[in-house]
Amino acid sequence: MENSLDPSSTPYFQTLRGFHDILPDDSDYYTLIKKVVRHRGRQAGFRRISTPILEASEVFTRGIGDTSEIVQKEMFSMLSHSGKSMSLKPEGTAGVVRSYIEHGMMNLPQPVQLYYIEPHFRYDRPQKGRYRQFHQFGLEVIGGRDPSIDAQVILLAQKILADLQIADRFTLQINTIGNMAVRDNYNNALRDYFYGKERHLTPELLVHLEKNPLRLFDTKDEDLKILLALAPKLQDFLDAESRNYYDEIKSFLTEMRMPFVENTSLVRGLDYYTDIVFEFWDKHDGAQNAIGGGGRYDGLVELMGGRATPATGAAFGVERIIAHMKDAEVAPPRKDKMHVFVAQLGGVAKKKAVRILSELHDAGVHAIGAVGKASMKYQLELANKFDVDWAVLLGEIEVKDNTAILRNMRAGTQEIMPLPQVTARVVELVGPENLDTYRIGE
Ligand code: AMP
Repeated sequence: MENSLDPSSTPYFQTLRGFHDILPDDSDYYTLIKKVVRHRGRQAGFRRISTPILEASEVFTRGIGDTSEIVQKEMFSMLSHSGKSMSLKPEGTAGVVRSYIEHGMMNLPQPVQLYYIEPHFRYDRPQKGRYRQFHQFGLEVIGGRDPSIDAQVILLAQKILADLQIADRFTLQINTIGNMAVRDNYNNALRDYFYGKERHLTPELLVHLEKNPLRLFDTKDEDLKILLALAPKLQDFLDAESRNYYDEIKSFLTEMRMPFVENTSLVRGLDYYTDIVFEFWDKHDGAQNAIGGGGRYDGLVELMGGRATPATGAAFGVERIIAHMKDAEVAPPRKDKMHVFVAQLGGVAKKKAVRILSELHDAGVHAIGAVGKASMKYQLELANKFDVDWAVLLGEIEVKDNTAILRNMRAGTQEIMPLPQVTARVVELVGPENLDTYRIGE
């Protein structure tokens, strides 16, 4: 589309790198995705939560873990006037857990099931499928530890992807990293293994070794990869409880005919996971463009200052979902089509036009008009450009007679009628199924 820049004028403004306007055509995708998440969430007893975009940085450093890539390199942080560090939320779970504790949700019937659809911010290098502001929908179940809950979160996510007609594009990858005791034992074993081998690690990796050794497995360094190949295996540390828990999740998935791939190298970047971790991988690009993922986070509520409370959840990237829908040629319903243009000549006619427009809107008809002072010919050309089916014409004669001309823009035919009958006639022609009406409480 041609833009309206004046080349001779001062520099114009553009969005920041990695930030995007959501233009009306794309808004239809967001609307549809929100609708699916809302309905599917509600069916399964999830209620919507929206936490602030800006939180004390500590919510994320504590919650996500200050060794994670997101916290170390990707947070948009700033200082308040009083010098307090605040950050734009890079993910949803930490804020939801902060809210769960702050509002005493442990006193509600457990588990508490929440969903969100929110913008998130990461100071990442922008590229295809990776933006600095992006949206995620997420599901969180706090206050329950049962394999059936983990399986149900996965199945709910799968239903959402299926409703959006893109479920067949992904494989579900799953792994267990063991309960908290297993993680602790394994972390200690890794620290022991690297004792005496510290010279192979950068200062940054030494910090990971100290705080969250599992993160070493994210490395791209070939020498470290060789060392890690010989390191103790997490699978050997799994205790009976962790194994049973994982086996039961798998048996629920199998029962529900949800295919999965077991992937023992999947650990996920955040510090807070325990037991099951999972991702939905693009069948073509694998992990590179995962559409979403999640896992159990039994330690997080306590870590953030609440009572020990088990929890599990998942988050999905809305922009990546939209990219897949476009690629699969799944189009959202277009509900913005204009039905009627109201054209008028003269001041009195314009008053009547505004009244007719208001009546049409109340009846659920998409109608525009009464714009400017142009000739009837120009207004009819404009009506054509807006691609309306009907035009209501109010000229000087019609104003005098209190009538209006109703023009069928496709056929080029027209009829004349008393002005008070116009709305009812238009409603009849547009058809009740195409009216845009709603009831509060629906
Ligand atoms: P994560 O919690 O990092 O695994 O993110 C969950 C999902 O959010 C990913 O699978 C992506 O679909 C989406 N996502 C994460 N980071 C970005 C980003 N920078 N831009 C767009 N989508 C993202």
